[in-house]
Amino acid sequence: MAKIRFLGAAGTVSGSKFLIDTGETRFLVDYGMFQGPKHLRLMNWEPPQVKPSSVDHVLLTHAHIDHAGMLPVLVREGFRGKIWTTAVTAELCEISLMDAAHLQEEDARFANKMKFSKHTPALPLFTSEDAEHVMPLFRTIDYDEQTELPDGTQIRFRDAGHILGSATVEVNMLNGRPMRLVFSGDLGRYDALVLRDPAPVIQADYLVLESTYGNRVHMEDDPVKELTAIIKETAKRGGMVVIPSFAVGRTQTLLYLLRDMKVRGLIPDLPVFVDSPMARRVTDVFCRHIDEFDEEAKKVFRETGECPVHCPGLQFVHTREDSQKINDIRFPAVIVSASGMATGGRILHHLKYRLPDSRNTILFVGYQSVGTRGQLLRDGARAIKIHGEMVPVRAQIRTVDAFSGHADSIEIMRWLSKFREAPRLTFIVHGEEESSRALAREIEGTLGWKTHVPRLLESVHLA
Ligand SMILES: [Zn+2]
Repeated sequence: MAKIRFLGAAGTVSGSKFLIDTGETRFLVDYGMFQGPKHLRLMNWEPPQVKPSSVDHVLLTHAHIDHAGMLPVLVREGFRGKIWTTAVTAELCEISLMDAAHLQEEDARFANKMKFSKHTPALPLFTSEDAEHVMPLFRTIDYDEQTELPDGTQIRFRDAGHILGSATVEVNMLNGRPMRLVFSGDLGRYDALVLRDPAPVIQADYLVLESTYGNRVHMEDDPVKELTAIIKETAKRGGMVVIPSFAVGRTQTLLYLLRDMKVRGLIPDLPVFVDSPMARRVTDVFCRHIDEFDEEAKKVFRETGECPVHCPGLQFVHTREDSQKINDIRFPAVIVSASGMATGGRILHHLKYRLPDSRNTILFVGYQSVGTRGQLLRDGARAIKIHGEMVPVRAQIRTVDAFSGHADSIEIMRWLSKFREAPRLTFIVHGEEESSRALAREIEGTLGWKTHVPRLLESVHLA
């Protein structure tokens, strides 16, 4: 009898990993890293919950680290199958996994230098070499195309509209009792910038559904209006707009919008520094795949011949020295840097430098996990710790929600409304517990579907 085991993203938003075992074949959907608070991050160091050599293949929904970040460990520990995904996701993974490996290596080096690790020597979770070994295992497929795997399982990826290349995955299992499993992956928003709408799915026997914003509704605010006001006010004060932003996806949306606002003369033509070598490489991937953009963004390209995710006055910052030099800038500008939740990366030195000055604005444009500096700042902390020092918060702290890459509860319900019949069971995953429970209640109340919010490591039989 087939069963599904929830190895991550159960009761939390990270560590997406689902194991499906039919008795004859075993596959994983996503193999992501736990992120956020320490007790979650420590789980990345535990031995895999499944013997990697016993897994036949991996189906990968998208390139975010919380969905793909542990693939280097899976491969190092013996996985030899193929990783099925879209071409864009494979390209983005090459960037994001190498970046994750470098961060791990840097952390280990730093721990060894400062001798604060309990283990000597401190080791990285995985190395660049481990990450390199993942790349040859990718097999790419186009959206909407049905592909049969060697074990007879049929898979189909649909555009999830969450980041470029992201997918909802349909799996038709024909061994034993035929059934269709659908994994929503991370669902994007309708009418989002640059990305297409999440493609509808009409049938599933079992559905595994994300619930990041399962208990929230995004405000209808127009991001252009909000962003225009924030940038103009800050520029008038002679301040800097510092935007912590994920390098993959969010930064490109932001550049698209800044471009539009500048072209329309809504904001002054101030310099835009993107201080993230990774964001630069990701932007290049985007510009190579304009065919995957939504109609509006494609139109910009047709009319101007320029990549729509570039903006006038844009400067990518390469070296650490150039990054430090931004500290000397005394005129209004926009700095976009990673990480998006201010948990690490070059954004930290910009925050350390710009937070104490009330003329500046720190602008959050993405989800902030519990316990991160981003969440503390957004919730009004008066001081935060950066590199061991308490930094006073005098800058304006603003949030523009409209950028969220995740569907809110109304949009999730809109996506579900396309199903012709109720799945036998809908598993609600990838959300903080309250969020998952709220969405479960909404689905049961509105659609009358049966739902289940799985616990971490829970196994459920699929009959
Ligand atoms: Zn994601």
